Amino acid sequence: MENNLKDYISQYYKIRKKMKTLYYVMNVVYFDAATVAPPKSYIERGEYMGILSEDVYKLKTSDEFVNIVEKLYESKNQLDLDFAHEITLLKEEIEQAKKIPMDEMIEFEKTLNEAQVKWEEAKHKSDFSIFQPFLEKIVEYKRKEVKYLETEEFKGYDVLLNMFERGYTQIEYDEFFNVIKEELVPFVKQVCAVKKQNFPFSKMMYEKTKQEEVAKYMGDVLCFDFSKGSMAETEHPFTWNTNNHNVRITNHFHENDFASSLFSAIHEFGHALYEQNVDDKFNDTFIGGGVSMAMHESQSRFYENVIGRNYAFWKIHYPKIQEIYQEQLKNVSLDDFYQYINNVEASFIRTEADELTYPLHVMLRYELEKELISGTLEVKDLEKAWNNKIKEYFGLEVPCSAMGVLQDSHWSGGSIGYFPTYALGSAISAQLYYNMQEEFDVIQSLKEGNTKDINNWLKEKIHKFGSSKYPKEILEKALNGKFDAKYYIQYLKEKYSKIYSI
Ligand code: ZN
Repeated sequence: MENNLKDYISQYYKIRKKMKTLYYVMNVVYFDAATVAPPKSYIERGEYMGILSEDVYKLKTSDEFVNIVEKLYESKNQLDLDFAHEITLLKEEIEQAKKIPMDEMIEFEKTLNEAQVKWEEAKHKSDFSIFQPFLEKIVEYKRKEVKYLETEEFKGYDVLLNMFERGYTQIEYDEFFNVIKEELVPFVKQVCAVKKQNFPFSKMMYEKTKQEEVAKYMGDVLCFDFSKGSMAETEHPFTWNTNNHNVRITNHFHENDFASSLFSAIHEFGHALYEQNVDDKFNDTFIGGGVSMAMHESQSRFYENVIGRNYAFWKIHYPKIQEIYQEQLKNVSLDDFYQYINNVEASFIRTEADELTYPLHVMLRYELEKELISGTLEVKDLEKAWNNKIKEYFGLEVPCSAMGVLQDSHWSGGSIGYFPTYALGSAISAQLYYNMQEEFDVIQSLKEGNTKDINNWLKEKIHKFGSSKYPKEILEKALNGKFDAKYYIQYLKEKYSKIYSI
Protein backbone atom coordinates (compact mmCIF):
# COMPACT_ATOMS: atom_id res chain seq x y z
CA MET A 1 0.00 0.00 0.00
CA GLU A 2 1.36 3.44 -0.88
CA ASN A 3 2.32 5.73 1.97
CA ASN A 4 -0.12 8.30 0.72
CA LEU A 5 -3.01 5.92 1.02
CA LYS A 6 -1.96 4.93 4.54
CA ASP A 7 -1.98 8.60 5.50
CA TYR A 8 -5.44 9.11 4.06
CA ILE A 9 -6.73 6.12 5.95
CA SER A 10 -5.33 7.29 9.28
CA GLN A 11 -6.70 10.81 8.70
CA TYR A 12 -10.05 9.28 7.82
CA TYR A 13 -10.07 7.22 11.04
CA LYS A 14 -9.33 10.32 13.07
CA ILE A 15 -12.21 12.35 11.66
CA ARG A 16 -14.55 9.36 11.79
CA LYS A 17 -13.77 8.87 15.48
CA LYS A 18 -14.61 12.51 16.14
CA MET A 19 -17.88 12.17 14.23
CA LYS A 20 -18.77 8.92 15.98
CA THR A 21 -18.16 10.62 19.32
CA LEU A 22 -20.46 13.51 18.44
CA TYR A 23 -23.18 11.16 17.16
CA TYR A 24 -22.85 9.10 20.32
CA VAL A 25 -23.36 12.09 22.58
CA MET A 26 -26.28 13.40 20.51
CA ASN A 27 -27.96 10.00 20.55
CA VAL A 28 -27.64 9.66 24.30
CA VAL A 29 -29.04 13.16 24.79
CA TYR A 30 -31.92 12.30 22.45
CA PHE A 31 -32.71 9.15 24.45
CA ASP A 32 -32.49 11.06 27.71
CA ALA A 33 -34.93 13.64 26.33
CA ALA A 34 -37.37 10.96 25.19
CA THR A 35 -37.35 9.09 28.51
CA VAL A 36 -36.39 10.70 31.81
CA ALA A 37 -35.47 14.34 31.16
CA PRO A 38 -37.89 16.80 32.82
CA PRO A 39 -39.99 19.02 30.49
CA LYS A 40 -38.08 22.24 31.06
CA SER A 41 -34.72 20.65 30.28
CA TYR A 42 -35.40 21.40 26.63
CA ILE A 43 -34.48 25.05 27.21
CA GLU A 44 -30.70 24.53 27.16
CA ARG A 45 -30.77 21.22 25.35
CA GLY A 46 -32.00 22.70 22.08
CA GLU A 47 -29.08 25.09 21.87
CA TYR A 48 -26.42 22.54 22.86
CA MET A 49 -27.77 19.97 20.43
CA GLY A 50 -27.73 22.64 17.71
CA ILE A 51 -24.03 23.25 18.38
CA LEU A 52 -23.23 19.54 18.28
CA SER A 53 -25.09 18.94 15.03
CA GLU A 54 -23.40 21.95 13.48
CA ASP A 55 -20.05 20.41 14.43
CA VAL A 56 -21.00 17.15 12.76
CA TYR A 57 -22.24 18.95 9.66
CA LYS A 58 -19.00 20.97 9.42
CA LEU A 59 -16.83 17.88 9.77
CA LYS A 60 -18.82 15.95 7.22
CA THR A 61 -18.91 18.67 4.59
CA SER A 62 -15.38 19.99 5.20
CA ASP A 63 -13.09 20.10 2.15
CA GLU A 64 -10.63 18.01 4.12
CA PHE A 65 -13.04 15.15 4.76
CA VAL A 66 -14.61 15.23 1.29
CA ASN A 67 -11.14 15.15 -0.24
CA ILE A 68 -10.07 12.18 1.90
CA VAL A 69 -13.20 10.24 0.95
CA GLU A 70 -12.63 10.98 -2.72
CA LYS A 71 -9.00 9.91 -2.54
CA LEU A 72 -9.90 6.69 -0.75
CA TYR A 73 -12.65 6.06 -3.29
CA GLU A 74 -10.16 6.32 -6.13
CA SER A 75 -8.07 3.61 -4.45
CA LYS A 76 -10.94 1.50 -3.24
CA ASN A 77 -9.64 -1.62 -4.98
CA GLN A 78 -6.76 -1.61 -2.53
CA LEU A 79 -9.01 -1.40 0.53
CA ASP A 80 -10.58 -4.35 2.26
CA LEU A 81 -14.12 -5.05 1.06
CA ASP A 82 -15.99 -3.74 4.11
CA PHE A 83 -14.01 -0.53 4.25
CA ALA A 84 -14.38 -0.03 0.50
CA HIS A 85 -18.16 -0.33 0.92
CA GLU A 86 -18.16 2.26 3.70
CA ILE A 87 -16.25 4.68 1.50
CA THR A 88 -18.54 4.01 -1.48
CA LEU A 89 -21.61 4.83 0.60
CA LEU A 90 -20.06 8.09 1.80
CA LYS A 91 -19.00 9.02 -1.70
CA GLU A 92 -22.56 8.48 -2.94
CA GLU A 93 -23.92 10.59 -0.13
CA ILE A 94 -21.52 13.42 -0.93
CA GLU A 95 -22.42 13.26 -4.65
CA GLN A 96 -26.14 13.45 -3.85
CA ALA A 97 -25.76 16.36 -1.47
CA LYS A 98 -23.90 18.33 -4.15
CA LYS A 99 -26.86 18.12 -6.51
CA ILE A 100 -29.30 19.98 -4.28
CA PRO A 101 -28.87 23.76 -3.99
CA MET A 102 -28.01 24.61 -0.38
CA ASP A 103 -30.52 27.47 -0.07
CA GLU A 104 -33.39 25.23 -1.18
CA MET A 105 -32.39 22.60 1.34
CA ILE A 106 -32.25 25.12 4.19
CA GLU A 107 -35.62 26.51 3.16
CA PHE A 108 -37.06 23.00 3.17
CA GLU A 109 -35.73 22.37 6.71
CA LYS A 110 -37.61 25.47 7.84
CA THR A 111 -40.79 24.29 6.12
CA LEU A 112 -40.50 20.95 7.91
CA ASN A 113 -40.17 22.61 11.31
CA GLU A 114 -43.38 24.52 10.75
CA ALA A 115 -45.13 21.61 9.06
CA GLN A 116 -44.56 19.44 12.11
CA VAL A 117 -46.32 21.92 14.39
CA LYS A 118 -49.16 22.49 11.90
CA TRP A 119 -49.69 18.77 11.39
CA GLU A 120 -50.03 18.28 15.15
CA GLU A 121 -52.53 21.12 15.34
CA ALA A 122 -54.45 19.84 12.31
CA LYS A 123 -54.60 16.34 13.75
CA HIS A 124 -55.69 17.64 17.13
CA LYS A 125 -58.50 19.66 15.53
CA SER A 126 -59.10 17.00 12.88
CA ASP A 127 -58.94 19.63 10.14
CA PHE A 128 -56.89 18.86 7.03
CA SER A 129 -57.08 22.44 5.73
CA ILE A 130 -54.64 23.56 8.50
CA PHE A 131 -51.96 21.17 7.24
CA GLN A 132 -52.76 21.35 3.52
CA PRO A 133 -50.63 24.41 2.54
CA PHE A 134 -47.59 22.91 4.31
CA LEU A 135 -48.00 19.53 2.68
CA GLU A 136 -48.29 21.36 -0.65
CA LYS A 137 -44.87 22.92 -0.02
CA ILE A 138 -43.41 19.56 0.98
CA VAL A 139 -44.73 17.82 -2.14
CA GLU A 140 -43.55 20.69 -4.31
CA TYR A 141 -40.04 20.39 -2.85
CA LYS A 142 -40.05 16.60 -3.26
CA ARG A 143 -41.01 16.93 -6.94
CA LYS A 144 -38.05 19.29 -7.39
CA GLU A 145 -35.71 17.09 -5.36
CA VAL A 146 -36.60 14.17 -7.62
CA LYS A 147 -35.59 16.23 -10.66
CA TYR A 148 -32.24 17.13 -9.09
CA LEU A 149 -31.44 13.54 -8.15
CA GLU A 150 -32.75 11.66 -11.16
CA THR A 151 -30.32 9.27 -12.85
CA GLU A 152 -30.52 6.94 -15.84
CA GLU A 153 -31.61 4.22 -13.46
CA PHE A 154 -33.94 6.06 -11.10
CA LYS A 155 -36.61 8.48 -12.22
CA GLY A 156 -39.57 10.17 -10.51
CA TYR A 157 -40.92 8.47 -7.38
CA ASP A 158 -38.17 5.81 -7.78
CA VAL A 159 -35.65 8.37 -6.53
CA LEU A 160 -37.54 8.69 -3.25
CA LEU A 161 -38.23 4.96 -2.90
CA ASN A 162 -34.56 4.27 -3.41
CA MET A 163 -33.65 6.59 -0.52
CA PHE A 164 -35.48 4.34 1.94
CA GLU A 165 -34.92 0.95 0.35
CA ARG A 166 -32.08 0.81 -2.04
CA GLY A 167 -32.76 -1.11 -5.22
CA TYR A 168 -36.55 -1.16 -4.87
CA THR A 169 -38.38 0.94 -7.41
CA GLN A 170 -41.91 1.23 -8.76
CA ILE A 171 -41.32 -1.87 -10.88
CA GLU A 172 -40.75 -4.03 -7.78
CA TYR A 173 -43.36 -2.30 -5.64
CA ASP A 174 -46.02 -2.29 -8.38
CA GLU A 175 -45.54 -5.99 -8.82
CA PHE A 176 -45.70 -6.52 -5.07
CA PHE A 177 -48.79 -4.41 -4.45
CA ASN A 178 -50.57 -5.84 -7.49
CA VAL A 179 -50.30 -9.27 -5.92
CA ILE A 180 -51.64 -7.84 -2.66
CA LYS A 181 -54.51 -6.18 -4.48
CA GLU A 182 -55.48 -9.26 -6.44
CA GLU A 183 -54.95 -11.87 -3.76
CA LEU A 184 -55.35 -10.15 -0.43
CA VAL A 185 -58.09 -7.55 -0.88
CA PRO A 186 -60.77 -10.17 -1.67
CA PHE A 187 -59.43 -12.48 1.05
CA VAL A 188 -59.59 -9.68 3.64
CA LYS A 189 -63.24 -9.02 2.65
CA GLN A 190 -63.98 -12.71 3.18
CA VAL A 191 -62.31 -12.78 6.61
CA CYS A 192 -63.95 -9.53 7.70
CA ALA A 193 -67.36 -10.97 6.84
CA VAL A 194 -66.93 -13.79 9.39
CA LYS A 195 -68.76 -13.08 12.62
CA LYS A 196 -66.20 -12.49 15.35
CA GLN A 197 -66.37 -13.61 18.97
CA ASN A 198 -66.14 -11.22 21.89
CA PHE A 199 -63.08 -11.06 24.11
CA PRO A 200 -64.24 -9.51 27.41
CA PHE A 201 -60.80 -10.09 29.00
CA SER A 202 -59.24 -7.66 26.54
CA LYS A 203 -61.15 -4.76 28.11
CA MET A 204 -59.97 -5.43 31.67
CA MET A 205 -57.34 -3.47 33.58
CA TYR A 206 -53.78 -4.80 33.56
CA GLU A 207 -51.40 -3.19 36.04
CA LYS A 208 -48.43 -1.47 34.52
CA THR A 209 -45.90 -3.29 36.72
CA LYS A 210 -47.28 -6.62 35.53
CA GLN A 211 -47.08 -5.53 31.91
CA GLU A 212 -43.44 -4.62 32.52
CA GLU A 213 -42.86 -8.08 33.98
CA VAL A 214 -44.35 -9.65 30.86
CA ALA A 215 -42.19 -7.50 28.58
CA LYS A 216 -39.07 -8.50 30.54
CA TYR A 217 -40.07 -12.16 30.30
CA MET A 218 -40.42 -11.77 26.52
CA GLY A 219 -36.93 -10.27 26.41
CA ASP A 220 -35.58 -13.42 28.09
CA VAL A 221 -37.55 -15.74 25.80
CA LEU A 222 -36.22 -13.96 22.71
CA CYS A 223 -32.67 -14.05 24.19
CA PHE A 224 -32.29 -10.29 24.24
CA ASP A 225 -28.94 -9.68 25.93
CA PHE A 226 -29.64 -7.44 28.93
CA SER A 227 -25.89 -6.93 29.47
CA LYS A 228 -25.87 -5.01 26.15
CA GLY A 229 -29.43 -3.71 26.28
CA SER A 230 -32.18 -2.21 28.39
CA MET A 231 -35.84 -1.18 28.45
CA ALA A 232 -37.41 2.21 29.16
CA GLU A 233 -40.77 3.93 28.85
CA THR A 234 -41.86 6.50 26.25
CA GLU A 235 -45.04 7.81 24.64
CA HIS A 236 -44.40 5.76 21.48
CA PRO A 237 -42.30 2.59 21.51
CA PHE A 238 -39.03 2.58 19.57
CA THR A 239 -35.61 0.93 19.42
CA TRP A 240 -32.47 2.95 19.97
CA ASN A 241 -28.81 2.02 19.65
CA THR A 242 -25.34 3.47 19.38
CA ASN A 243 -23.61 0.17 18.52
CA ASN A 244 -24.11 -3.49 19.41
CA HIS A 245 -23.12 -2.90 23.05
CA ASN A 246 -25.78 -0.31 23.67
CA VAL A 247 -29.22 -1.26 22.37
CA ARG A 248 -32.40 -0.12 24.09
CA ILE A 249 -36.08 -0.61 23.52
CA THR A 250 -38.89 1.53 24.86
CA ASN A 251 -42.51 0.69 25.46
CA HIS A 252 -45.78 2.31 26.45
CA PHE A 253 -48.12 0.63 28.92
CA HIS A 254 -51.86 1.16 28.38
CA GLU A 255 -53.57 -0.37 31.39
CA ASN A 256 -56.72 -1.17 29.42
CA ASP A 257 -54.86 -2.83 26.54
CA PHE A 258 -52.33 -5.44 27.61
CA ALA A 259 -51.75 -6.71 24.07
CA SER A 260 -50.41 -3.33 22.95
CA SER A 261 -47.31 -3.40 25.19
CA LEU A 262 -46.86 -7.15 24.73
CA PHE A 263 -46.59 -6.95 20.94
CA SER A 264 -44.72 -3.65 20.98
CA ALA A 265 -42.13 -5.35 23.19
CA ILE A 266 -41.78 -8.33 20.84
CA HIS A 267 -41.63 -6.01 17.80
CA GLU A 268 -38.96 -3.76 19.31
CA PHE A 269 -36.96 -6.74 20.61
CA GLY A 270 -36.91 -7.91 16.99
CA HIS A 271 -35.28 -4.64 15.93
CA ALA A 272 -32.99 -4.81 18.96
CA LEU A 273 -31.78 -8.38 18.33
CA TYR A 274 -30.76 -7.30 14.86
CA GLU A 275 -28.65 -4.50 16.33
CA GLN A 276 -27.14 -6.64 19.10
CA ASN A 277 -26.09 -9.32 16.62
CA VAL A 278 -24.15 -7.09 14.25
CA ASP A 279 -20.51 -8.15 14.18
CA ASP A 280 -18.30 -6.39 16.76
CA LYS A 281 -15.84 -5.35 14.06
CA PHE A 282 -18.33 -2.76 12.75
CA ASN A 283 -18.81 -0.95 16.07
CA ASP A 284 -16.44 1.88 15.32
CA THR A 285 -17.47 2.32 11.69
CA PHE A 286 -20.31 3.86 9.68
CA ILE A 287 -21.49 0.43 8.50
CA GLY A 288 -22.59 -0.88 11.86
CA GLY A 289 -26.36 -0.71 12.22
CA GLY A 290 -29.11 -2.54 10.36
CA VAL A 291 -28.85 -2.23 6.61
CA SER A 292 -32.22 -0.79 5.58
CA MET A 293 -35.78 0.07 6.58
CA ALA A 294 -37.43 -2.99 5.05
CA MET A 295 -34.76 -5.32 6.39
CA HIS A 296 -35.18 -3.90 9.89
CA GLU A 297 -38.93 -4.18 9.68
CA SER A 298 -38.64 -7.73 8.37
CA GLN A 299 -36.85 -8.64 11.61
CA SER A 300 -39.25 -6.87 13.98
CA ARG A 301 -42.29 -8.30 12.19
CA PHE A 302 -40.78 -11.74 12.03
CA TYR A 303 -40.63 -11.83 15.82
CA GLU A 304 -43.88 -9.94 16.35
CA ASN A 305 -46.07 -11.87 13.90
CA VAL A 306 -44.48 -15.03 12.55
CA ILE A 307 -43.24 -16.07 16.01
CA GLY A 308 -45.18 -13.87 18.42
CA ARG A 309 -48.62 -14.68 17.01
CA ASN A 310 -47.87 -18.35 16.48
CA TYR A 311 -49.87 -21.05 18.27
CA ALA A 312 -46.84 -23.23 19.10
CA PHE A 313 -45.10 -20.23 20.68
CA TRP A 314 -48.03 -19.53 22.98
CA LYS A 315 -48.56 -23.14 23.83
CA ILE A 316 -45.27 -22.84 25.72
CA HIS A 317 -45.50 -19.29 27.03
CA TYR A 318 -49.18 -18.71 27.67
CA PRO A 319 -49.10 -20.44 31.10
CA LYS A 320 -46.48 -17.91 32.23
CA ILE A 321 -48.54 -14.94 31.00
CA GLN A 322 -51.61 -16.46 32.62
CA GLU A 323 -49.71 -16.75 35.89
CA ILE A 324 -48.66 -13.09 35.79
CA TYR A 325 -52.18 -11.94 34.82
CA GLN A 326 -53.91 -14.48 37.08
CA GLU A 327 -56.86 -12.29 37.90
CA GLN A 328 -57.71 -11.45 34.30
CA LEU A 329 -56.74 -14.59 32.37
CA LYS A 330 -57.35 -17.48 34.75
CA ASN A 331 -60.48 -18.60 32.88
CA VAL A 332 -59.27 -17.69 29.41
CA SER A 333 -58.22 -20.69 27.33
CA LEU A 334 -55.15 -20.75 25.14
CA ASP A 335 -57.43 -21.02 22.10
CA ASP A 336 -59.35 -17.88 23.05
CA PHE A 337 -56.13 -16.01 23.71
CA TYR A 338 -54.73 -17.12 20.36
CA GLN A 339 -57.94 -16.12 18.60
CA TYR A 340 -57.80 -12.69 20.24
CA ILE A 341 -54.20 -11.90 19.33
CA ASN A 342 -54.98 -12.79 15.71
CA ASN A 343 -58.31 -11.02 15.51
CA VAL A 344 -58.87 -9.46 12.08
CA GLU A 345 -60.97 -6.36 11.57
CA ALA A 346 -61.30 -3.69 8.91
CA SER A 347 -60.06 -0.52 10.63
CA PHE A 348 -58.93 3.06 10.03
CA ILE A 349 -55.58 3.33 11.81
CA ARG A 350 -52.50 1.73 10.27
CA THR A 351 -50.47 1.42 13.47
CA GLU A 352 -53.32 -0.42 15.20
CA ALA A 353 -54.11 -2.71 12.27
CA ASP A 354 -53.82 -6.48 12.54
CA GLU A 355 -51.31 -8.58 10.64
CA LEU A 356 -53.66 -9.39 7.75
CA THR A 357 -55.14 -5.97 6.97
CA TYR A 358 -51.88 -4.08 7.60
CA PRO A 359 -50.42 -4.28 4.07
CA LEU A 360 -53.63 -2.78 2.63
CA HIS A 361 -53.07 0.35 4.72
CA VAL A 362 -49.58 0.61 3.29
CA MET A 363 -50.69 -0.03 -0.29
CA LEU A 364 -53.12 2.87 -0.07
CA ARG A 365 -50.32 5.22 0.97
CA TYR A 366 -48.03 3.92 -1.77
CA GLU A 367 -50.65 4.55 -4.43
CA LEU A 368 -51.31 8.08 -3.18
CA GLU A 369 -47.62 9.00 -2.90
CA LYS A 370 -46.97 7.73 -6.39
CA GLU A 371 -49.69 9.97 -7.78
CA LEU A 372 -48.61 12.97 -5.71
CA ILE A 373 -45.05 12.79 -7.02
CA SER A 374 -46.02 12.14 -10.63
CA GLY A 375 -48.47 15.05 -10.45
CA THR A 376 -51.66 13.15 -11.27
CA LEU A 377 -52.93 13.98 -7.79
CA GLU A 378 -52.77 17.34 -6.02
CA VAL A 379 -52.66 17.81 -2.25
CA LYS A 380 -56.03 19.59 -2.27
CA ASP A 381 -57.67 16.39 -3.53
CA LEU A 382 -55.67 14.08 -1.28
CA GLU A 383 -58.19 13.66 1.51
CA LYS A 384 -60.95 12.71 -0.89
CA ALA A 385 -58.69 10.20 -2.64
CA TRP A 386 -57.71 8.75 0.74
CA ASN A 387 -61.32 8.32 1.85
CA ASN A 388 -62.27 6.69 -1.45
CA LYS A 389 -59.54 4.10 -1.05
CA ILE A 390 -60.56 3.26 2.53
CA LYS A 391 -64.04 2.69 1.16
CA GLU A 392 -62.74 0.56 -1.70
CA TYR A 393 -60.39 -1.67 0.35
CA PHE A 394 -62.19 -1.86 3.68
CA GLY A 395 -65.76 -0.80 2.91
CA LEU A 396 -65.50 1.89 5.61
CA GLU A 397 -66.44 5.59 5.70
CA VAL A 398 -63.69 7.69 7.29
CA PRO A 399 -65.40 9.60 10.14
CA CYS A 400 -62.84 12.43 10.55
CA SER A 401 -59.49 13.63 9.16
CA ALA A 402 -57.61 12.62 12.30
CA MET A 403 -58.57 9.00 11.67
CA GLY A 404 -57.84 9.37 7.99
CA VAL A 405 -55.32 11.38 6.03
CA LEU A 406 -53.85 13.08 9.12
CA GLN A 407 -53.06 9.98 11.18
CA ASP A 408 -49.35 9.49 10.34
CA SER A 409 -46.45 11.84 11.02
CA HIS A 410 -44.32 10.72 8.04
CA TRP A 411 -45.39 13.27 5.44
CA SER A 412 -45.08 16.19 7.86
CA GLY A 413 -41.50 15.04 8.48
CA GLY A 414 -40.80 15.12 4.75
CA SER A 415 -40.69 11.32 4.42
CA ILE A 416 -42.29 10.35 1.13
CA GLY A 417 -41.30 6.88 -0.07
CA TYR A 418 -40.93 5.46 3.43
CA PHE A 419 -44.30 3.69 3.89
CA PRO A 420 -43.84 0.90 1.32
CA THR A 421 -40.88 -0.48 3.30
CA TYR A 422 -43.26 -1.50 6.10
CA ALA A 423 -45.21 -3.86 3.85
CA LEU A 424 -42.11 -5.07 2.08
CA GLY A 425 -40.55 -5.89 5.46
CA SER A 426 -43.61 -7.90 6.51
CA ALA A 427 -43.52 -9.82 3.24
CA ILE A 428 -39.80 -10.53 3.56
CA SER A 429 -40.38 -11.92 7.06
CA ALA A 430 -42.76 -14.55 5.66
CA GLN A 431 -40.29 -15.61 2.98
CA LEU A 432 -37.50 -15.82 5.57
CA TYR A 433 -39.71 -18.13 7.59
CA TYR A 434 -40.13 -20.57 4.67
CA ASN A 435 -36.40 -20.50 4.01
CA MET A 436 -35.56 -21.09 7.66
CA GLN A 437 -38.04 -23.96 7.75
CA GLU A 438 -36.09 -25.67 4.94
CA GLU A 439 -33.00 -25.75 7.14
CA PHE A 440 -34.48 -26.70 10.50
CA ASP A 441 -37.84 -27.29 12.13
CA VAL A 442 -38.65 -23.78 13.34
CA ILE A 443 -41.77 -24.75 15.27
CA GLN A 444 -39.99 -27.67 16.94
CA SER A 445 -37.17 -25.32 17.99
CA LEU A 446 -39.66 -23.13 19.86
CA LYS A 447 -40.25 -26.02 22.27
CA GLU A 448 -36.86 -25.23 23.80
CA GLY A 449 -38.64 -22.28 25.40
CA ASN A 450 -36.56 -19.67 23.61
CA THR A 451 -35.66 -18.49 20.11
CA LYS A 452 -31.94 -19.27 20.21
CA ASP A 453 -31.90 -21.35 16.99
CA ILE A 454 -33.94 -18.75 15.15
CA ASN A 455 -31.73 -15.92 16.38
CA ASN A 456 -28.61 -17.77 15.29
CA TRP A 457 -29.99 -18.38 11.81
CA LEU A 458 -30.91 -14.72 11.38
CA LYS A 459 -27.59 -13.62 12.82
CA GLU A 460 -25.61 -15.71 10.34
CA LYS A 461 -27.77 -14.81 7.33
CA ILE A 462 -28.52 -11.15 8.04
CA HIS A 463 -27.64 -9.54 11.36
CA LYS A 464 -23.89 -9.99 11.51
CA PHE A 465 -23.27 -8.11 8.23
CA GLY A 466 -24.64 -4.81 9.57
CA SER A 467 -24.58 -2.40 6.62
CA SER A 468 -21.38 -3.76 5.12
CA LYS A 469 -23.18 -4.79 1.90
CA TYR A 470 -26.18 -3.49 -0.04
CA PRO A 471 -29.52 -4.72 1.36
CA LYS A 472 -30.49 -6.68 -1.76
CA GLU A 473 -27.16 -8.50 -1.66
CA ILE A 474 -27.68 -9.62 1.94
CA LEU A 475 -31.32 -10.48 1.37
CA GLU A 476 -30.95 -12.52 -1.80
CA LYS A 477 -28.20 -14.56 -0.23
CA ALA A 478 -30.33 -15.20 2.86
CA LEU A 479 -33.31 -16.14 0.70
CA ASN A 480 -31.32 -18.22 -1.77
CA GLY A 481 -33.01 -16.23 -4.50
CA LYS A 482 -35.10 -13.17 -5.15
CA PHE A 483 -37.83 -11.66 -3.06
CA ASP A 484 -41.20 -13.11 -4.07
CA ALA A 485 -44.54 -11.91 -2.66
CA LYS A 486 -46.14 -15.30 -3.13
CA TYR A 487 -44.68 -16.55 0.18
CA TYR A 488 -46.33 -13.72 2.06
CA ILE A 489 -49.71 -14.44 0.48
CA GLN A 490 -49.29 -18.16 1.13
CA TYR A 491 -48.34 -17.52 4.75
CA LEU A 492 -51.29 -15.20 5.40
CA LYS A 493 -53.85 -17.32 3.60
CA GLU A 494 -52.75 -20.55 5.29
CA LYS A 495 -52.80 -18.97 8.70
CA TYR A 496 -56.06 -17.04 8.51
CA SER A 497 -58.08 -19.62 6.57
CA LYS A 498 -57.36 -21.96 9.45
CA ILE A 499 -58.19 -19.42 12.16
CA TYR A 500 -61.49 -18.45 10.51
CA SER A 501 -62.30 -21.84 8.97
CA ILE A 502 -62.67 -20.55 5.43
ZN1 ZN B 1 -40.64 -1.34 13.55
